[in-house]
Amino acid sequence: MSEGEPSGLVERIAERIRGIGFSCTLCGDCCRGFPDDNNLVMVSPSEIRCLSETCLLARDEIAEPYPESIALADGTNLTLGWAIRRVQGECRFFRNGSCIVYESRPWICRTYPFMLDGETLLVFPCRGLGGSIGRKEALSLAGDLVSRKVAEDEEEEKIRKVLISPLPKVKGRLIIDSDGVTVL
Ligand code: SF4
Repeated sequence: MSEGEPSGLVERIAERIRGIGFSCTLCGDCCRGFPDDNNLVMVSPSEIRCLSETCLLARDEIAEPYPESIALADGTNLTLGWAIRRVQGECRFFRNGSCIVYESRPWICRTYPFMLDGETLLVFPCRGLGGSIGRKEALSLAGDLVSRKVAEDEEEEKIRKVLISPLPKVKGRLIIDSDGVTVL
């Protein structure tokens, strides 16, 4: 395979996407609480840093701890990771019907409504499904999906290492991410 040529995996995913069909309708549903509460956008520390450089906001203005946590017997609460902060159910970067950090948007936003589970393509509800998509665009989306999977796998591995190291002995909420532990 020459440099710049899509891998067999990317080719296969792109063909699958073309078979399903997808064309973003710019409805903004994936940036709002639709349907129900499934619009959480998980963000890694590196994605938060990227957004921070783009919009000159501090981490806590960009992201909030993932809403679910695990209560340990010693009173500690463990939360895995961060999600983009929402205001009245909408992503804080969704303004007047569009994304104000579009070029720096996280992997989840770049690849919605698709996700890879191993090499299996998962598809989430979206009004754009079934739309027409060309080969070039499908290859680009498939390439992003593979890059997202690599980034997520690396994040998970780093989080695993944090979890097997001794955690701070403090009561309260611990947020675990690939950078380490944040005590709130
Ligand atoms: S970062 Fe942009 S694309 Fe992602 S949910 Fe927010 S407004 Fe939508």
